[in-house]
Amino acid sequence: MSPPRHGKLVVLSGPSGVGKSTVVKQVLAECGPGLKLSVSATTRPPRPGEVDGVDYHFLSDQEFARRREADEFLESVEVFGRGHWYGTLWSEVRSSLAGGKWVILEIDVDGAEDVVRDFPAAITLFIRPDSLEELEKRLRSRGTESEEAIGRRLAVARHELALADRYQYNVVNDTVDQTVQEICEILRSNEFEKIGT
Ligand code: 5GP
Repeated sequence: MSPPRHGKLVVLSGPSGVGKSTVVKQVLAECGPGLKLSVSATTRPPRPGEVDGVDYHFLSDQEFARRREADEFLESVEVFGRGHWYGTLWSEVRSSLAGGKWVILEIDVDGAEDVVRDFPAAITLFIRPDSLEELEKRLRSRGTESEEAIGRRLAVARHELALADRYQYNVVNDTVDQTVQEICEILRSNEFEKIGT
C-alpha cells in the first residue's frame, strides 16, 4: 500500500457569533474521518463550560510568549488589541498533515492571511451571517459577554466582513445543516474524499 498523501490546511474564518464552532463540530462529524480540528492556544480566560485542551489550550501570557519565542506557533495574533493572544500550535497540525489528514484552522482574518502566505495550497472558507443585525442578535443571545465586549466584537465583525472576499469560498450561515453540507461539498470538490483516511 502506498503511504498517505500529505493532508491540506483548511482555513475557516467568520465573525464571532456567526456560529462557527457549531458548524465546525458538525463538519467534523459529517464530512468524513479524514478531518481534524486544530485546537488553538489562547491567553483569554475560559468561558463557562469551556474545557482546557478541548476548546482551547488556555495559556498564561508568559507561557504563550515563551512558546512564541520557541517557534511553536504556525501563526499567532493579538486578536482584539486588548492583550489576548490566539495562535495555532505546530503540534496540532504537523503530524496530522503528514498522516494525510486535512486540518481545520478556525482562525481570524489576520492569522488566515499569514497562513495563506506560508501555505498557498490552503483552502480558505469564510462563514458569513445573514446580516450584521442577525449577528448582533446572536451575540446578545449568548448572554456571556458585556455590552462593551459585544460592541467590540461587532466592530471586529465589520472589519472581518470587509475582508471576506479574500477567501476562496464564502458560505452564508442560514441553517447549520445547509452550511455544513455546503462545506462538505467544497471539501469534496477539492479532492477531500480521495485522500482522506
Ligand atoms: P473567541 O474568543 O470567541 O473564541 O475567538 C475570537 C476570535 O479568535 C475568533 O475570530 C477566532 O476565529 C479567533 N481565533 C481562535 N483561535 C485562533 C488562532 O489560533 N489563531 C488566530 N489567528 N485566530 C484565532
